[in-house]
Amino acid sequence: MAKDLGAKCKKCRRAGERLFLKGERCDSPKCAIVKRNYPPGFHGSKGKKRLTDYGLQLQEKQKARRQYNLLEKQFCLTFKRAKAKTGNTGENFLSLLEMRLDNVIFRLGLASSRGQARQMVSHGLFTVNGRRVTIPSYTTRTGDVIKIKSNKKDAKIFNNLSEILKKKEIPGWLNMDTKALSAKILHKPTMNIIAPTFNIQMIIEYYSR
Ligand code: SF4
Repeated sequence: MAKDLGAKCKKCRRAGERLFLKGERCDSPKCAIVKRNYPPGFHGSKGKKRLTDYGLQLQEKQKARRQYNLLEKQFCLTFKRAKAKTGNTGENFLSLLEMRLDNVIFRLGLASSRGQARQMVSHGLFTVNGRRVTIPSYTTRTGDVIKIKSNKKDAKIFNNLSEILKKKEIPGWLNMDTKALSAKILHKPTMNIIAPTFNIQMIIEYYSR
């Protein structure tokens, strides 16, 4: 499976905001956006360049793609799937990104970043409707029940889970039973609920050129 192995903090510095790619470190004073909030590279400290319309669209697309931890091919394919559906392309696109299994695991607080969620899904730690799923891009549906695989509940990675889940704010489209460690997709997330930090219209314009 292809992976983006580029330096994560540089991606945030390029975007000019936190993309939350490194779990707990992102909320700490060690975050590179706190320490060096200017673009990476030799001339980065001279400040940001003025961007053309195309540059701005590209920047928003990259920001979203990196937030969801996807390679260009996967991101573009997801956009094409959203465009082929009826309804608002932007809303469809966001909902497809949010309903990926790795993103759902991250939103539930079972992983500290989408990157970690992706790895945990590939390692077979979760079941969807009772069946083990190892595909991070698996699109969940309304009513799906996601659980930690029964023989994986004692895995080291879930050691502090109850403490983490107490602090985690779970979005309204998901329901988490913290005792049974079972989650349910209540409905598709809407644009208002997701409140993206990137400009979805610019991404549509980027892919419509
Ligand atoms: Fe981005 Fe997290 Fe690195 Fe901060 S610590 S720059 S949010 S990846």
